[in-house]
Amino acid sequence: PIIPDYLTDALADVESDVSGELAAYIPELAGADPDRLGAVFATLDGTIYGAGDIDHEFTIQSISKPFTYALALADRGFHPVLDKVGVEPSGEAFNQISLERGSGRPLNPMINAGAITAHSLAGPPGLDPAGRVERVIDGLSAFAGRRLAIDEAVCASEMRHAHRNLAIAHMLRSYDILTEDPTAVVEGYVRQCSVLVTVRDLAVMAATLANGGVNPLSGEQVVHRPVVRQVLSVMATCGMYDAAGDWATHVGIPAKSGVAGGLIGALPGQIGIATFSPRLDAHGNSVRGVSLFEQFSSDAGLHVMEVP
Ligand code: GLN
Repeated sequence: PIIPDYLTDALADVESDVSGELAAYIPELAGADPDRLGAVFATLDGTIYGAGDIDHEFTIQSISKPFTYALALADRGFHPVLDKVGVEPSGEAFNQISLERGSGRPLNPMINAGAITAHSLAGPPGLDPAGRVERVIDGLSAFAGRRLAIDEAVCASEMRHAHRNLAIAHMLRSYDILTEDPTAVVEGYVRQCSVLVTVRDLAVMAATLANGGVNPLSGEQVVHRPVVRQVLSVMATCGMYDAAGDWATHVGIPAKSGVAGGLIGALPGQIGIATFSPRLDAHGNSVRGVSLFEQFSSDAGLHVMEVP
């Protein structure tokens, strides 16, 4: 089996890099074991190749954003969602307090302002906050192909320090982008971010996108193809925040990072990839995850702009 050996070697190549820092603004995340390292490839026929800590659970954090955006698009349709969340790269940090001039619309669904709004648009209109969280967890679980749970300790820890996201939500409320209690929406969004996954789950979730919305393990059509195209486009342009251009040129795979150390890439029609390593660079992206993806992309010629 060539791929497991390849992945074991790739992990060995980055293992000695202990640069970067754990996310400290969520105190519970600062207690994570910084040395954990894992990588998984999930192919579209449902084969899983992995190496390292592939069964260790951690919180999904911002990697939930493209999937919740997909659910909002599926549940409400494109127009109601695009009216409230744009698709322009912000070139700013994930937690920047920035909205489009005039409309107050968040620039894209990968930064927190847009992700909080996308969370509010999951499920049918009029759903209460608890029902919406259920809809989101059901949806994330369908992407993963197994029932996912919430890490209540991480959730409570983030909520106690959520001043910045609360400020963003209140601003969104003042522009009527959010139409309900901002605190309840942030609570739901923080629960969404606290969903526990393994690097294996993340690779299957990415493979579901790469497979046109059909989970390669369960066979379930989780969302339709037009939704997947929209989500992958936004991941390609905005998934790595203010490092999106660097990523697009060096790696060239639609991707999304999370502050617990997860990182996914979805290569349309080909493969879902995920890595886990908790130390983060200045953009909030996993240091060793970024190195691994650079290696995968160049070794296997995965850059989407590569002319064959
Ligand atoms: N829950 C985190 C936040 O809103 C997610 C951020 C991230 O993973 N980049 O700050």
